[in-house]
Amino acid sequence: MLPMTCHDAIIVGGGPAGSTAAALLAQAGFRVLLLEEKRMPREKLCGEFITPESFPTLSRLGVFDELIRQGAQQIRRLSLITSQGQVDGEMADISRECDWAMSVSRARFDQTLFERARSLGAECREGIAVKQCAFNGEYPTGVDGIDLGTGRPVSFRSELVIDASGRQSRLMLNRAERTAGRRGSRRYALKVHFENVVDIDGRIELFLFEHGYGGLSLIENGLANLCFITTEEIVRRAGGDSMKVLEQTILTNPIARERLSKAVVSGNWLAAGPLSFGRRRLFRRNVIALGDAAGMIDPFTGTGMQIALRSAEIAVRAIIESAGSSRYIEEAARRYSSYYEEEFGRRMAIAGALRPVVFSPLATRIAAKTLAAAPFLARPLMRATRR
Ligand SMILES: Cc1cc2nc3c(=O)[nH]c(=O)nc-3n(C[C@H](O)[C@H](O)[C@H](O)COP(=O)(O)OP(=O)(O)OC[C@H]3O[C@@H](n4cnc5c(N)ncnc54)[C@H](O)[C@@H]3O)c2cc1C
Repeated sequence: MLPMTCHDAIIVGGGPAGSTAAALLAQAGFRVLLLEEKRMPREKLCGEFITPESFPTLSRLGVFDELIRQGAQQIRRLSLITSQGQVDGEMADISRECDWAMSVSRARFDQTLFERARSLGAECREGIAVKQCAFNGEYPTGVDGIDLGTGRPVSFRSELVIDASGRQSRLMLNRAERTAGRRGSRRYALKVHFENVVDIDGRIELFLFEHGYGGLSLIENGLANLCFITTEEIVRRAGGDSMKVLEQTILTNPIARERLSKAVVSGNWLAAGPLSFGRRRLFRRNVIALGDAAGMIDPFTGTGMQIALRSAEIAVRAIIESAGSSRYIEEAARRYSSYYEEEFGRRMAIAGALRPVVFSPLATRIAAKTLAAAPFLARPLMRATRR
């Protein structure tokens, strides 16, 4: 067992939420320990689409220009493509923040944020898998885990523990909750990078098909990212073969066929599931949850990372505002809940209401016909999931 050190804050998970919280707390003078189980840069299954609403946080963190320098693409147009045709829009139509969105690999995006936290003074440790939180009654005293490099148990001490470990959080969810997506919904996601995708510059294409949806856009180095969600039945029918799943989903659309006609897979396919979406809890036994650990908005909104970044910002604000009070972690959790509700409550509810539509073949057909007849409906729908 390594000697224990004490920090003002321990953050579990070095994704967008964890790195943002670590960067901001370190900037505010906290002695921060950020623990990430993987080694950076690490791949992540994601649409890799960063909405303009994320830009103010990225600027405040001082990484916006760095991401552009690293090859993040500017996405100015958006096409919603169904079996009935396509509806085109400008990013400027759905965002008040900026007339373009960003598209960059998660390997690069997450590493940039992680390194930013480090450069602002957070102690960032990779290869540490947190297993559990330690408590004194209902109050956290630190975390215990494994150093995956040495295989040794490790313990770290702090009264403030922040969970940013994503959708499979061990600290927020009990075993039954972690396996909830394995019953009922059974949706799976796949992602791959391609070279030689035809005619996709400056645009994201969202494909709505009978058993799910997916997005295609250019990222850095001339690669394009394709990420989509479908049902377990489709994955099973394809025998788990990613190319066959692609054939039965995205490639049922002639526009997608054209885009990928000369495409060559670059790197590995990533898959995840079963997935479940929606609200969870913002804190548990005085451990505060950020990003996906607190709740996962449906990927069709393309706003998961923005919520991860902003939830970290508002949690840090709540922590700093509560610093003087006697039970400051409880006070911080209370303030954070109120900020979270105000900022994300409505959007989460709208995304939840739209969820059954995107997985019902009948509803998808009706939606495709409605949008073909009344394309102007697409804009308010997309805006509604953003604010
Ligand atoms: C199919 C799909 C497509 C998506 N597309 C988009 C999109 O285009 N745009 C968008 O904005 N959002 C998208 N999202 C959502 C987005 O990926 C998430 O909202 C975002 O990653 C949340 O960030 P986070 O920091 O909360 O968690 P994560 O990014 O999941 O980071 C959690 C980190 O914690 C680490 N970790 C986990 N457990 C432990 C542990 N026990 N100890 C130490 N470390 C641990 C993990 O390794 C990981 O690095 C998509 C999601 C899915 C499923």
